Amino acid sequence: MKYDVNKTGYYGKFGGSYIPEMLYSNIEELNKNYLSIINTKSFNKNFNYLLKHYVGRPTPLYFAKRLSKKYGSKIYLKREDLCHTGAHKINNTVGQILLAKELKKSKIVAETGAGQHGVATATVCSLMGMDCIIYMGEVDISRQRPNVERMKILGAEVRSVTSGSKTLKDATNEAMRHWINNPNDTHYIIGSVVGPHPYPDMVARFQSVISEELLLQLKEVEGREYPDYILACVGGGSNAAGIYYHYLDNLKVNLVGIEAAGLGIESKKSAATTQLGKEGVLHGSKTLLMQDENGQVTEPYSISAGLDYPGIGPLHAHLYDSKRGQYLSVEDNDAMKAGIELSRLEGIIPAIETAHAFAVFDRLNIKDKVVVVNLSGRGDKDLETYIKWGKY
Ligand SMILES: *Cc1c(COP(=O)(O)O)cnc(C)c1O
Repeated sequence: MKYDVNKTGYYGKFGGSYIPEMLYSNIEELNKNYLSIINTKSFNKNFNYLLKHYVGRPTPLYFAKRLSKKYGSKIYLKREDLCHTGAHKINNTVGQILLAKELKKSKIVAETGAGQHGVATATVCSLMGMDCIIYMGEVDISRQRPNVERMKILGAEVRSVTSGSKTLKDATNEAMRHWINNPNDTHYIIGSVVGPHPYPDMVARFQSVISEELLLQLKEVEGREYPDYILACVGGGSNAAGIYYHYLDNLKVNLVGIEAAGLGIESKKSAATTQLGKEGVLHGSKTLLMQDENGQVTEPYSISAGLDYPGIGPLHAHLYDSKRGQYLSVEDNDAMKAGIELSRLEGIIPAIETAHAFAVFDRLNIKDKVVVVNLSGRGDKDLETYIKWGKY
């Protein structure tokens, strides 16, 4: 595949493995084994079993009739919001925990921002009876209380990170440090298509179950496997990578990623990485990155904690750079309005991350076209934010 990662872990000029020497042996072990493990019959049997009976897959492809009418096109929603724990993230954590078992690891470490990945990780750890340590910034702990308690109920230990800006970026640093210090018994479950190779490729493969299902589901309802447009919100880019995956080489499909513009691109309070980012290295891979003139990573902002990341996965940096993908950004207010619109027209309250993807129909040439939006997660976790915003 043209947009596939190459042997050295690059998508075009992005990706690779920029890691401290202390991490070499961990990454090398993973790199040597991940493909041979995840391609075995027994792995796939276990993975598919859990996706079906535990996660609740295949997720429906729902034709959004009233939304379609409003925008004069055929809009389908891929219902990842119906997955166990409320979002697509569980697809990846189920895959990685099975991999960790095969690698004979007994402990799991992970980072989390909003807590969604932390919850998905804590969930599969209890499922498998493995120890679970989650690093989370002090700031995020105080603003994402329900998810912190969820992780604790599930039996995970949540460690507060007080370095730097005390948010996701710092939690990721600490989780990596923990892994360096515990290489033998611990596997690190990263939450998006970011990090050193092979993480971006591995996470994309686990999430690619989304586009694999979509091929069949579209064939059934539209008589052809592909849509004209695929829309997905992009934080690190895992739900987008998962729904793009089997369409990357089909140039008839317009791939659209939607980033968070926060209070506005020019406001210095946003997370619109493709528009504002420059090439740089973060968390082990070369990618597009929001940084100041000295190369210091700048603090991202979005009303949705899940899009609040200063970088973007290297696959997306490459899709943007090569123009295979189109990347738009949406401000807080417009995302919130789109979330309310979906609630009113279809009876589905989306996660605020997801709501961003519903705010760009007017900016695309989608009249009479077949459009699929990845409905990455449900809005239960965001009720407080909806209430605070208030305009409904
Ligand atoms: C975490 C999250 C995202 C952002 O992560 P990606 O890796 O970009 O998919 C988007 N939507 C929901 C519901 C999330 O929980």
